[in-house]
Amino acid sequence: METRRLFGTNGVRGVANVDMTPQFAMELGASIGTFFDGGKLLVARDGRTSSVMLLEATMSGLMQTGCNVFDIGMAPTPALQYITGSSDVDGAVMITASHNPPEYNGIKVIDKDGIELEREKEVEIERIYATKGWKPRDWKSLGTRTSRCGALDEYKEAIKRHVSKERIHSASLKVVVDPGNGVGALVTPYLLRELGCKVYTINANVDGEFPGRLPEPAIGNLAMLCAAVKAFGADLGVAHDGDADRAIFVDETGTAHWGDRSVALTEKFFLLENKGETIVTPVSSSTAIEEIAEAYGGKVVWTPVGSINVSRTMQRIGAKFGGEENGGIFYGPHIAVRDGAMAASLIVDIMSKTGKPLSTLFSELPRHYSSKSKVACPNAVKDTVLEKLRQETEKLKVETLDGVKIRFEDGSWILIRPSGTEPIFRLFAEAKTNEKASALVEEYSQIVSRIVKSN
Ligand code: MG
Repeated sequence: METRRLFGTNGVRGVANVDMTPQFAMELGASIGTFFDGGKLLVARDGRTSSVMLLEATMSGLMQTGCNVFDIGMAPTPALQYITGSSDVDGAVMITASHNPPEYNGIKVIDKDGIELEREKEVEIERIYATKGWKPRDWKSLGTRTSRCGALDEYKEAIKRHVSKERIHSASLKVVVDPGNGVGALVTPYLLRELGCKVYTINANVDGEFPGRLPEPAIGNLAMLCAAVKAFGADLGVAHDGDADRAIFVDETGTAHWGDRSVALTEKFFLLENKGETIVTPVSSSTAIEEIAEAYGGKVVWTPVGSINVSRTMQRIGAKFGGEENGGIFYGPHIAVRDGAMAASLIVDIMSKTGKPLSTLFSELPRHYSSKSKVACPNAVKDTVLEKLRQETEKLKVETLDGVKIRFEDGSWILIRPSGTEPIFRLFAEAKTNEKASALVEEYSQIVSRIVKSN
């Protein structure tokens, strides 16, 4: 019998006290604790209004099943991941809903190497949960809870080892940091200041109501940061999502650049110093990633969409650099997970190394335009629709690593894939002009709609 899926592409997510109740968190905690068989686990949380409630309940479940819990408190997800990978523990649990709106929360399980659990291990936890198969211990062998102090300082020091503090200091860059009222506020402003930048902040009070802007650092949510960069005469701005594993950058003219640009920029400078290295990125990433790899002597390995696929592939093949178009930079010499504070440090390092304004650095990258859309499709027919789409497009140059990616002669492409969480197909196209990208999305939206209707 197949058990109900709890874990999505980024852990278990839902609305606080609707899906994510303390009762659910405690039972899931007990299932996670049983999976780890009473091991040592780190925990942390973001600053959402429901995070304390859910963390306490999750910890009860973990201790009920014999796990010794070490609490690092409020922290960015990548800080917990780094500390997990560098400590003698069996894994970790993070309470966060990342970039989701304020009413959401989530539980993410991390393996002992600091990377999210592989799918097969999540399935095992789902099975324990569905069968109520958790194993409470007797009173003498319950788990304990200990505060784990100093984690954020250790995390900052670890990041500093990968950039030149002297060089950054002498560049005296002015930076505006916008953590969006998320837990990035606890690290990035201090880290950049310790590296020698002059730091200004907006939305840097951790607040679970997210009064400054929504936790997703989408370009449309960053007007305040763009204005602040200009008002302060700053050299750059950096925005994080709610748990600070992503970073989006604003140049000195007040223009925000989507994550595919900052990934391409860091990739270029990584390859300049690491000839022949492999770049790991999902099929949704820009052609610019490929063009830079060709130009600077690297090669690209494509993965299905999802940060865990990038992390696990990097780990499997020993790659040191990965990137996602949403602003996720995976810097292997630090840890093979996306990390917003590491990304910000790499960007200021590149700026200090070149002495060039950020707008110039971005303008020197290959330019492509993207367009996206979605088409409604009931979950039950997604597989059939995808199969028919594959049949209809088999004469074209198609890749099927994740959904259907069609590449055209002129270098443009479109990716069509079923959403893992919503009853929709997502369409994402890239081309040399905006018009061409929009036209591709329009054309294939109609094709997908027609196939959906015929089912
Ligand atoms: Mg996140």
